[in-house]
Amino acid sequence: MSLPSPYAEVAAATKGFLPVDEGDALHAAALTAEPGLWLEVGTYCGKSTVHLGAAARARGAQLVTLDHHRGSEENQPGWEWHDASLVDPHTSRLETLPSLRHALWDAGLDDVVSVLAATTQQVAGWWASPVQLLFLDGNHTEEVAQHDYAAFAPHVVEGGLLAVHDVFPDPADGGRPPWHVVQRATGSGAFVEERVTGSLRVLRRTGAPVT
Ligand code: MG
Repeated sequence: MSLPSPYAEVAAATKGFLPVDEGDALHAAALTAEPGLWLEVGTYCGKSTVHLGAAARARGAQLVTLDHHRGSEENQPGWEWHDASLVDPHTSRLETLPSLRHALWDAGLDDVVSVLAATTQQVAGWWASPVQLLFLDGNHTEEVAQHDYAAFAPHVVEGGLLAVHDVFPDPADGGRPPWHVVQRATGSGAFVEERVTGSLRVLRRTGAPVT
């Protein structure tokens, strides 16, 4: 299902790396998730957050979106995905939090989305809430991608959803760590794959433990 208005317009105007078909697939998958608590890892400027938030609004869920908001490696100066307009003159660092806040304001999602500005390593130590939906789209280095899976996937309830972005089985198409995370998730039997749209994979939690 496509994103309804006004979310579609806000998402389109928000910077990010989520193609329209993958955003629609993420939104459609989230509409099948149970209400309760949903967690997004890797917010950037909030394009995917608007997709998930729109579904959370429709389902009566609460969404937490987690990011340190200073950009991944590929967003830093000199890298392919750097956007100089996002540099904060106070810190001289990338700063995506204001863009997210503007997107949530424009989408009317402030009461549905809780913004958590921290690294995943900070949050991993204290996060204890079960989640009905987990979207992994944070730092794509092997170390952090595996960390984020290990830290948060065990909190996905049986029957809950795990979505992973930037999954490229062919190394010619992109980096490998998200693909390795999907292989780990399905290989352990803890998740079964339900849907593939571009580089987006949607998995569902079984009763098997996350390893
Ligand atoms: Mg991504």
